[in-house]
Amino acid sequence: MSELSPSSLDYTIHVKEEHEEYRKVIRDFSQKLVLPKVQKIESENALEDELVTRLCETGIMGITFPEEYGGAGADNLTLAIAVEELSRVCTALATLVVANYLVSTPIYLFGNEEQKRKYLAPLAKGQKIGAHAMTEAGAGSDVSAITTQAQKVDGGYRITGRKLFITNGDRAHIYLVFARTSPPDPRKRHLGVTAFIVERGAQGLKIGQRLNVIGLRGDQPVELIFEDVFVPEENVLGEIGRGVRIALSTYDRGRIGVAAQGVGIAQAALEAALKYSTQRETFGNKLLSYQQVQFKIAEMVSSVHAARILTYWAASLADQAKPFVKAASIAKIVATEAAERNAHAAMLIMGAYGVSQETGVERLLRDSQVIKTYEGTNDIQRLIVAREVAKEVGFAL
Ligand SMILES: Cc1cc2nc3c(=O)[nH]c(=O)nc-3n(C[C@H](O)[C@H](O)[C@H](O)COP(=O)(O)OP(=O)(O)OC[C@H]3O[C@@H](n4cnc5c(N)ncnc54)[C@H](O)[C@@H]3O)c2cc1C
Repeated sequence: MSELSPSSLDYTIHVKEEHEEYRKVIRDFSQKLVLPKVQKIESENALEDELVTRLCETGIMGITFPEEYGGAGADNLTLAIAVEELSRVCTALATLVVANYLVSTPIYLFGNEEQKRKYLAPLAKGQKIGAHAMTEAGAGSDVSAITTQAQKVDGGYRITGRKLFITNGDRAHIYLVFARTSPPDPRKRHLGVTAFIVERGAQGLKIGQRLNVIGLRGDQPVELIFEDVFVPEENVLGEIGRGVRIALSTYDRGRIGVAAQGVGIAQAALEAALKYSTQRETFGNKLLSYQQVQFKIAEMVSSVHAARILTYWAASLADQAKPFVKAASIAKIVATEAAERNAHAAMLIMGAYGVSQETGVERLLRDSQVIKTYEGTNDIQRLIVAREVAKEVGFAL
């Protein structure tokens, strides 16, 4: 059967007891330790170190990696469920996790044994935090347009340039930095970029301005400035000049996590709207007794289920080592847009309380805008889906 009319088996999602057990661990953590702090995180726009330490103790930072590298050997579905649960309460905290995987995953996939022992293990155990530094002022979706330079010198490379919108940039211990090792070739734009592992404290590495974005208060990205930063030869990740491939295959996996963030936000909005509409009375009736509200709730329930199933499906395909790129992009589009729609619907259902900061529903709408943007905007996801489908029918895009 062709991919366009797939076998029913392609839709298998293996949810097991272990998945539910870990969901409970993260739900418990989120309800007991995070929920009481959400208002403070929002108003101070900061995540307490203590909360991050406790988060790391749940094992979430390395759950998918083998035990020999500090992980728990669980699957991508476990991680998706965990990110969903965390995002249901605090998307900013989930972003810290998702961004950490943008460093640990490529080290796992492309690193040598020594790099895995030295860098992956502490990232997976949550002893160290990672930041993925690709985006620049002139290069976001188009990663091949980066201009940060890595010049070959005796024993390594010297990196010079500026990176923008880097999550965890101010708290990270390990940076994965992408820089040009050879000038761009217009015919092969994806070549000539190399990935480097840079340690915090490297001479010439400075943390620049904080970029205040609409959502994810508590985990705002920063600018990173590299002034002639020396990186030893052994910290080159993968092949010289093949960094774009490393980055893109990292984002393919990472966007399952972003989809899971969308599911968590969509679920939180549904719960808030449902609770409010069963309690609030107008003209002598509970809101939920009005068909106009019932329809909105029905749409929200439908959106959250569709988003969850697609996200678990993408994770399950990755777990079975089946092609998952198209599924991951579909999941990211559907789940992040479900988050936006549900947050907006919840705001409307909750009237003035919906737009008030105290109830936290407007935060869900703000957070949904950011997750639609990072790890490849939803426009870029649509391009990926179209490219994959074109490939399936033998049409080169
Ligand atoms: C909160 C936050 C955290 C982030 N964290 C990180 C991080 O940790 N590390 C990192 O490296 N980066 C990070 N980013 C950057 C993020 O990945 C980029 O913002 C994103 O890839 C989009 O790039 P851009 O902002 O330059 O938009 P552009 O690429 O300039 O795109 C602008 C608009 O044009 C559209 N567009 C662009 N190209 C096309 C096309 N070919 N076809 C159709 N439409 C197109 C886009 O969809 C978008 O709507 C973060 C961003 C934010 C907001």
